[in-house]
Parts: sequence; structure tokens; C-alpha cells
Amino acid sequence: MARLNAHPSGRHFLQIPGPTNVPDRILRAMDHPTIDHRGPEFQALAKRVLAGVRPIFQTRGPVVIYPSSGTGAWEAALVNTLSPGDAVLMVETGHFATLWKKLAERLGLQPEFIAGDWRHGVDAAQVEARLRADKGHALKAVCIVHNETSTGVTSDVAAVRRAIDAAAHPALLMVDTISSLGSIDYRHDAWGVDVTVAGSQKGLMLPPGLSFNAVSDKALAAAKGARLPRSYWGWDEMLSANANGWFPFTPATNLLYGLAEAIDMLMEEGLDAVFARHARHAEATRAAVRAWGLELLCLDEAGYSNSLTAVLMPAGHDADAFRATVLQHFNMSLGQGLTRLAGKVFRIGHLGDFNDLTLVGTLGGVEMGLALAGVPCRQGGVQAAMDVLRATATGAAAVRRAAE
Ligand SMILES: *Cc1c(COP(=O)(O)O)cnc(C)c1O
Repeated sequence: MARLNAHPSGRHFLQIPGPTNVPDRILRAMDHPTIDHRGPEFQALAKRVLAGVRPIFQTRGPVVIYPSSGTGAWEAALVNTLSPGDAVLMVETGHFATLWKKLAERLGLQPEFIAGDWRHGVDAAQVEARLRADKGHALKAVCIVHNETSTGVTSDVAAVRRAIDAAAHPALLMVDTISSLGSIDYRHDAWGVDVTVAGSQKGLMLPPGLSFNAVSDKALAAAKGARLPRSYWGWDEMLSANANGWFPFTPATNLLYGLAEAIDMLMEEGLDAVFARHARHAEATRAAVRAWGLELLCLDEAGYSNSLTAVLMPAGHDADAFRATVLQHFNMSLGQGLTRLAGKVFRIGHLGDFNDLTLVGTLGGVEMGLALAGVPCRQGGVQAAMDVLRATATGAAAVRRAAE
């Protein structure tokens, strides 16, 4: 009998929608002695990542990098631009939108929530109607989650931009891209976003520990008059130090080595190819879910997430018991249902360092786990996914190998 703490043979399948699997190239890049963060070697690294990260956000403007989880970058977005008592418009797309709203409340802001059913994305028409009604421009910001990781629903950020413009409203637009950046097309500049919030541990393929604010000129101007208390999160000191390749406090040096490598990897593949890869894997995953006869949580076809898929459990079956079965038998972690969805859904992460066979292995574990856990559904999901992958095979992996 295997000992309880025996080393499990083969790799753990970390198929939660973040943190994601860290590729060997990035692990090796971080395996480096920590250097003097006030010395020339660090300065070169900082300049490289501060410039290199901009194209990932599709921006020409500054990107602030914090040593923190993504939640810190949420806080930074708000405290740099807003004042005590400011009203902000938020949209209840799911668990993460709800957490961001709570954070805003704790900071002394007055978030107004457009209610949602956790199965749809942001309704831009509702945002426009609310902004048109706000004749006195009391609302200072619109804050949305691009890819709601708790539900697997992506919102149309460009449509929200158009809604704000159609209402001729001056509110700032802030977008959480923690589970979409580097996986789903996202354009900070072209979509007129004022603050983009991101994190290291999802599409960027890094361990947890870095967060980001991409900042527009309008957001920088708002920061001049904003009166919420801020110190650690202040953009001003950060940006003036960054201009010469420095940080105002000790940066997460080894994560920055990893970030430099991640940027190289995304740029070598090409962002369009990265987005297409994620779209294809998401489509194959949905084909599997349909073949199993299970229900997707997302009810909006245009909003299907390319980075994860949330699947509803049949009534009377516990998603967490199923996930425990999968972990026990196949050494794979799937995402749990969060708060209101606890026990009701499981989430398959298919983002980051991920290819066709990672997907086939992942779906194989799900299919076998469903049967072992006695969940009523059909077999054949893996086959359905493979049919999609075969029909849309690009040869990209082979081409990449040959080029190396
Ligand atoms: C993961 C996630 C967060 C939380 O990020 P932390 O790094 O855990 O603070 C927030 N928003 C979204 C959309 C996420 O996916």
C-alpha cells in the first residue's frame, strides 16, 4: 500500500482558474540569486519589464507593478483616483465583483450595484441608462470585471466604454482583468480604460505575488485631486521611481525575473495566437460539457469565457465531493464553487501554460471522476473535445518545436 505521504508520481494537474501552472522556463528564470534592488543589474531588469509589460495590456501608458495579490491592485485603483464618499457604479457579475464592491465600501466609497444573476456578463445598456440618469455626475467611476472567474462569463468592455460615451458621462472606467490578461483579448488603450487591474498568477503564468495597474492620463489627472488616504499604493512615488528603473520599496525581484520571461513567451507566441489558443480550448471544453449532458453556468453565448468553464452539478450532487474524488484518484485540482455557488458548480481552468494534451488529460480526469462519484451523465465528453481539437488543429506546437 502506498504510504500516506508518498510522492505522487507524475505532475499534479493544477486546473483551477488560477493560480495556474508555472512553465519550466519561468521557474528557471526565477531560480536566481536575489540581487541588490538599488544596483545596475536590477535597474536593467526593471526597465525591461516596465516597458515590456505594456504591450500585454495593449497600452502605451504606464503600468504600475506591486508586490501583492490582485486584491491589492483593486485597492490601488480606487484609493489613487477617488475621494471619501464618492459614488461608484459596479455590476454584480459574480463573486469577484461582489468582493470588489465590499472593498470599496470598506474604503468609505458608496458603490451602487447593478444586480445580476451570476450567469450573465455586464449589460452595457443598463450601465448607459444608469449613467444617463446621473445628470449631476455623482458617479465617479464604473468598475467591472472583464472575466468573472467565479462564473466563467466574460463581459464586453468595449461596449461598456461605448455606453459611457453615449451617456456623455465623465466617470472613470476601471476593469479587473486578473483572469483574462494574457488569455483573452484585452485592449487598455483602444477601449478607453482608465485603470486596468491585473495579477501575476493566471494568464501571465507566474506564481502569485505581483499585481498591476495600467493607468490612463485621465486616471493620472484624477489622482491629483483624489483624497482617499494612500501610502503604499500611491502611484506618484512609484511612477517617479520607475522612470529610472527603481522602486520606492523592495520589489519582488525574483518574480520580476519570471515576469520578463513570461513577457518573452507571450510575445514569441504572439498575442493573437495566445488568444486563439485559449478560445479553441474553451470551445473544446464546452463540447465535452455538452456531450456529458451537463449544463454550463454561463447563459450568454457571447460571454463564454476562454480561460475557464464553470459547470453546474445535477441537483442532489455535491460539486465539492466530486472535486475531492478527482483529487484523490487523479491528482488533479479543479476550481470550487464560490460563496453562492458553493457545492453547485465546479470550474475547469484552461488558461496559461496549456496545450491540447493538457486539455485532454484534464477532461479525462473530469469524465472519470464524474463516473466514480456517481454523477448522472453521459460518457464521450473527451471524445467530443478531441473531435474539436482535431478539426481545428493548427500545427502550432510542431512549428514551434521545429523553430527551436
Ligand atoms: C483571482 C481573482 C481575483 C483575486 O485575486 P487575488 O490575487 O486572489 O487577490 C480578483 N478578481 C478576479 C477576476 C480574479 O480572477
